[in-house]
Amino acid sequence: MGLDPASLKIALGVVAFTLSLLFFGSFRRTRSPYSGWWCLALVFLLAGNLAYLFAGTSQQIWAGPLGNTLLVTGAFSVWAGSRSLRLHRTALWQLLAGPIATAVAAALENPATNAWSGGLVYLAMMSMGMTLATVELWRLKPSASHAQRSLALAAGILAAFFFCRGVAYLVEGPDGPDFGTYLSSAATSVVTLVLLVTVSFSMTALSNEQLIDGLNERATRDGLTGLLNRTAFMELAAREINRLLSAGSVSTLILADLDHFKALNDSYGHAAGDTAIQAFAAACQASVRHTDLVGRYGGEEFTILLPGADVESAEVIASEISRRLAAAKSPDGIPFPTVSYGIAPSTIANAEVVSMIAAADKALYKAKSLGRNRAVCATS
Ligand code: GH3
Ligand code: MG
Ligand code: MG
Repeated sequence: MGLDPASLKIALGVVAFTLSLLFFGSFRRTRSPYSGWWCLALVFLLAGNLAYLFAGTSQQIWAGPLGNTLLVTGAFSVWAGSRSLRLHRTALWQLLAGPIATAVAAALENPATNAWSGGLVYLAMMSMGMTLATVELWRLKPSASHAQRSLALAAGILAAFFFCRGVAYLVEGPDGPDFGTYLSSAATSVVTLVLLVTVSFSMTALSNEQLIDGLNERATRDGLTGLLNRTAFMELAAREINRLLSAGSVSTLILADLDHFKALNDSYGHAAGDTAIQAFAAACQASVRHTDLVGRYGGEEFTILLPGADVESAEVIASEISRRLAAAKSPDGIPFPTVSYGIAPSTIANAEVVSMIAAADKALYKAKSLGRNRAVCATS
């Protein structure tokens, strides 16, 4: 092919060095584990290629095995990084088993004179590390972005490339025609260069996507309970009510308010009040379906939208929430408050979320005046 392997290794080293600096910057800013792992993988790739520059010199005895070991560590760091995207930790032995096997194999096959000592184990381990990374990336949630698909594809191509090299090495040896041309070290450098750029670009896109997802989550969730905040609830509820309306179906809204909550705060302190709010949120989430929307409307008031449910089902759910809250154990033995509910179906409020809340609020007021700890349905 006429490519000069040493120059290509230097070019690869320069690219890996530049990218590792960029990713180190991003890791320092975001502290995201996969930026850290990717940065480490680049450093191993860089160091491995530096070691290879001593191949064919008097230093080959350590340079060859060290280069192989560092590159395999790099491949397994890519795997660890992919695992961190799925929030899985990687144990030290998982990271180091492959590299240690590579080092031992290289040391056993005359590294002083044999430039390809431990070559088969090295190629197999590279392929294995990248295959594991591919599987891990492919298994990421189907919220899957293009970035993550490109990452999986890039890792898969590298895994397949090293697998082919391994087969060629096994069949024809390091001096064979295929292994010496399009599966050579020079070809590997070119493939790696292209994939480095692809992966780095995708990593950045993925990191931005995760950042945006995180910000979105914070913007739509209530910090104390993890329920939807008021703005998010109103938006999602309006959309859901409209969708049901056009499908000819109803939905029902519950407005819940904890009873004598101020007295609980005054007697036991604000922290006890917070615990009661969290316990109520948990009771709500345990009682509704995952398609229902639960929001913290403000203070100790909550909104629940039950798509497709009528008033009777809403009453059943309200009493189920109260039953769960009453059965819940309070950490300090402080009693949890009872709850009053106002219930309004979309049919009486022109299917407008604001009117449904207003109707439910009236019903809630009635529940309070009737002595609390009950549910009252809105009347037209
Ligand atoms: P009622 O049965 O009529 O609903 O009486 P209440 O005491 O529950 O209602 P009121 O509106 O008088 O008091 C609500 C209290 O909720 C006042 C406020 O300090 C408290 N509160 C609002 N948000 C929080 C919160 O996040 N944590 C805690 N601990 N208290 C809160
Ligand atoms: Mg209130
Ligand atoms: Mg209250």
